[in-house]
Amino acid sequence: MKRRDFITKSTKAGVALSLGATLMACVEKPKSPMIHRKQPIALCTWGFVNANLVAGKALDQGISALDAAIKGVAIEEENLKNTTVGKGGAPDREGNVTLDACIMDSNGDCGAVVCVENITNVAALARIVMEKTPHVMLAGSGAEELAYKYGFQKEQLLTESSNKAYQEWLETSEYKPIINIENHDTIGMLCMDQNGDIAGACTTSGLSYKMKGRVGDSPIIGAGLFIDNEIGGAAATGLGEEIMKNVGSFLIVELMRQGKSPQEACEEALKRITSKHEKLDHFQVAYIAMNKAGETGSYCIHPGFARMEYKNSINTRVASKAYLDV
Ligand code: ASP
Repeated sequence: MKRRDFITKSTKAGVALSLGATLMACVEKPKSPMIHRKQPIALCTWGFVNANLVAGKALDQGISALDAAIKGVAIEEENLKNTTVGKGGAPDREGNVTLDACIMDSNGDCGAVVCVENITNVAALARIVMEKTPHVMLAGSGAEELAYKYGFQKEQLLTESSNKAYQEWLETSEYKPIINIENHDTIGMLCMDQNGDIAGACTTSGLSYKMKGRVGDSPIIGAGLFIDNEIGGAAATGLGEEIMKNVGSFLIVELMRQGKSPQEACEEALKRITSKHEKLDHFQVAYIAMNKAGETGSYCIHPGFARMEYKNSINTRVASKAYLDV
């Protein structure tokens, strides 16, 4: 073949090849790394403006739902004015502050700690249980030792003012496992990140002046918190004994699985409690929930409970509907 013929033929072949490639490109588009980002949501119990804002902003920056929930609740664990979460929380009747917490992620993995002394960030510690041990729950000194192993600082959780309140309480030592119906401060938080994944955390010092060793619903997976990433999540606050008897948060997620909205599921779960009591004047229970579509809801026994919602980068306090609303 002459050199000129070769060039002509090769050029034609080249054109045919590149045309073919162009056609192929039209038919079979290369997969673009397009990510459908979801609008993140942070939802928490009570009026914890700051905690919810911190979680929401962190979600906007792209952190995972679990990281955001732990970061958010840490604000209240470290808030000395909060008398039922973390440092500054009220002690038990013997004067010891003991904390409970749990976390659950979007894979259905979870961790919990109960009756922990001297450690402030117990939700973060619950994560260590989940990630670094083969267990789900650690109690008391076992959990505390694990904390030191992972660099947590030993701290005095009884503050000057929580000790003062305790000393005053000692004068009557009236033990009523009854909680102020308008001011419980357990923080349960549900977060949805930009991938649409849901995780949560729940952390508390429990009932003020509780019996030594008493543990409420907050660190119990299914009671104080439950997440199913295909369906949604729920968290609880209020009299833990009632919430545990009904496995409240798990129940709400299951009711959402059956088609109920978060609001309907919270109402139905709460009615399982109210229907068993003739009198409701001595305790409060409140639930919050979020589904996979980002819908939210809450319900409580006594008016006065509110949830914080961070949606579309706006943090809002939403007064909850109550069973005893007039
Ligand atoms: N649920 C918590 C407990 O029973 C208390 C609360 O939320 O106020 O320990």
